[in-house]
Amino acid sequence: MANVTKRYEGGGGTVTALSNVEFAVAGGEVVAVVGPSGSGKSTMLNLLGLLDDPTEGRVELHGTPVAGRSERERTDVRRETIGFVFQDFHLVPTLSAVENVRLPTAFLSEDHTDRAVDLLERVGLGDRLDHTPDELSGGQKQRVAIARSLINEPDVLLADEPTGNLDRETGVSVLEEIREIAAAGVGVVAVTHDDLVTGYADRTVELVDGVLDDA
Ligand code: ADP
Ligand code: ADP
Repeated sequence: MANVTKRYEGGGGTVTALSNVEFAVAGGEVVAVVGPSGSGKSTMLNLLGLLDDPTEGRVELHGTPVAGRSERERTDVRRETIGFVFQDFHLVPTLSAVENVRLPTAFLSEDHTDRAVDLLERVGLGDRLDHTPDELSGGQKQRVAIARSLINEPDVLLADEPTGNLDRETGVSVLEEIREIAAAGVGVVAVTHDDLVTGYADRTVELVDGVLDDA
């Protein structure tokens, strides 16, 4: 993203959530984004994920601006290039691990069950394929969520507090998983409060009142 400013109108005033932010993630790199509550971290992740538009500036994918595309095209771009991982996993409680992982491909004619199984095996859950989320530990749920985020072979993985609900040991195993994903060429951006994550990052940047600096 280049020269990105994001303002919100509300409460009878304007909030500048991001101010002139320059940021890029390369394939294979893990970047941690830290900063106090309200500093603009979620806003930045939403813009990188093409879930929202900047007020000023550009968001680019592979050097091509995203602005001006239709909602349909943006959805396609998002689906083909971006994976999301959330603190609270966002798994469907009634579906098994395999069904959760292949869910983003449900609208495609090709059956992605085999790929979902491969991904679950890769994150060490080959023996939990048919378990539902309530039958899995926190770390296992996060690894299902990571496997799901990879089903469309994204170039970029956006993670919002990926270790937020995990104990330290489980957090380490999830971060090791994330490092392996980056080693396969994926660019990872993780918003976090957790020092554990910054220890696994190639680079840490800090947002303070919407201004981004190298930390
Ligand atoms: P963080 O994720 O670092 O806690 P956010 O990106 O959520 O920060 O918020 C940055 C600033 O933008 C805050 O002042 C917040 O109140 C404001 N903000 C975020 N989303 C909205 C919104 N939808 N409408 C109005 N203000 C918002
Ligand atoms: P952790 O120490 O990683 O949090 P847990 O102690 O929660 O792990 O779980 C240990 C094992 O028990 C895991 O392999 C998980 O699959 C299984 N398990 C946890 N909760 C349930 C449950 N409600 N039903 C079935 N199996 C469960």
